[in-house]
Amino acid sequence: MTLNLNEAALLRRHNAIGNEWRDAHAGARLPVSNPATDDVFASVPDSDAIDARAVADAACLAFPAWAALPAHNRAQCLKRWHALIVAHADDLATLISTEQGKPLKESRGEVMYGASYVEWFAEEAVRTYGDIVPAAVAGRRMTVLKEPVGPIAAITPWNFPLAMIARKIAPALAAGCTVVAKPAEDTPLTALALVYLAQQAGVPAGVLNIVTASREHTPAVVDAWLQDSRIRKITFTGSTPVGKHLARESAGTLKKLSLELGGNAPFIVFEDAEIAASIDGLMASKFRNGGQTCVCPNRIYVHDSVYDDFVAQLTQRVAALHVGPATESESMIGPMINARAVEKIVRHIDDAVARGARVTTGGTRVRANDGPHYFAPTVLIDVTPDMALSCEETFGPVAPIFRFSSEADVIAQANDTPFGLAAYFYSNDVKRIWRVAQALETGIVGINEGAIASEAAPFGGVKESGYGREGSRYGLEDYMHTKYLCQGLLD
Ligand code: NAD
Repeated sequence: MTLNLNEAALLRRHNAIGNEWRDAHAGARLPVSNPATDDVFASVPDSDAIDARAVADAACLAFPAWAALPAHNRAQCLKRWHALIVAHADDLATLISTEQGKPLKESRGEVMYGASYVEWFAEEAVRTYGDIVPAAVAGRRMTVLKEPVGPIAAITPWNFPLAMIARKIAPALAAGCTVVAKPAEDTPLTALALVYLAQQAGVPAGVLNIVTASREHTPAVVDAWLQDSRIRKITFTGSTPVGKHLARESAGTLKKLSLELGGNAPFIVFEDAEIAASIDGLMASKFRNGGQTCVCPNRIYVHDSVYDDFVAQLTQRVAALHVGPATESESMIGPMINARAVEKIVRHIDDAVARGARVTTGGTRVRANDGPHYFAPTVLIDVTPDMALSCEETFGPVAPIFRFSSEADVIAQANDTPFGLAAYFYSNDVKRIWRVAQALETGIVGINEGAIASEAAPFGGVKESGYGREGSRYGLEDYMHTKYLCQGLLD
């Protein structure tokens, strides 16, 4: 896919530090390739610890003035930024599809989804109320204020190059924090374009800074922020091992942390469910972004009495999904992000089949002549808990179907994982709905619904899926601390 932008300035090739766009101080570059073909089409700085400290300095310098700015003014900046994101939706979608691979239609959806967080937090910026507490002692006033935590660091994954970073930056700026950001090495260009648009919207110099780095240099960049006591919070979306590393290493300066980590979502279809609706929900949640989402169903449990019917209908729907490059208008599944991703999918399918699972559609690489990372959407049946894909996130277009016969057993299986991000279930029994929703150990539960994410709702996990929430008023609170003022001598 060639990069053909209406506004060429959106293709940024440098780090944003203060009010400058700069190369990495050592001059190193990181190639950016299109996952559809593996062709390199751009490059960005491959930064190191010195660049990381430079952005931290800029964010710290800008913090007092940004925190002191009336919330109304910060909200205005965010509203202008939102308008620019929407105005450049086509170009941003092109950038997303070119560096990440998802179909253009999905990329446009991601732009509007990411923009919705910016708009929502612009509106919420002016509502960061504290409290007046009835005084416990005569002659005192007791007041509670909400204050920005300080400069923060945001580290994001490649699967939603725009939305993941927008939903961190928007609440941070709304709360009065300044930001240093590092996008994933596979998808740096969308994030750079977003920062450029924020500058155009009037976000002051130093308030929003970004560096890009290779996988190899990333630990040095992030370690510089972990050790910097001026950086008061790390907000991270990515894998659980890296999240645990950040939790350990930030202990030295006791930073606040928001960790949006891996998932292993169960999707349960009870015998009283509407089968057609459950298949619609599964298609929406499982195959979005080629199955490369943290809330994607990874284990699908179908009641014994409806199993065969469900499998037959699902197989037909999955077999009809068009696999292809973002530019083909009928594409519903793009390439996987890289060779490592395809290898993991192959390993999971091979392991499952060796242990007795059967493929009803897909199961192989496809369109090898067009590119190395296409994989056919796959349905696996007769899946059992001893298979690798039942305990690891596959992060690909594979729907493994388990069979169950009792509610208690399926809940026990659904919860039998260290992860707890999202869960879904379909049922028409109102008593069961409340019972199961409460029993599932996850931060998010979709009930007769496969599309759960919204800027107005708290998104996040429990157990080893992390802590902290994004979106909603809870997402804003994560960027503030609570200060109590006690004034005496009032009588
Ligand atoms: P990843 O953890 O490998 O990378 C995420 C980010 O961390 C990237 O920017 C990467 O450069 C950086 N990173 C890598 N090693 C690091 C280190 N040693 N120190 C500091 N930073 C480091 O994850 P990924 O493969 O890019 O993303 C997929 C994972 O993200 C999946 O597990 C998925 O479930 C999870 N995810 C979670 C959510 C959520 O909201 N919970 C959303 C999207 C993705």
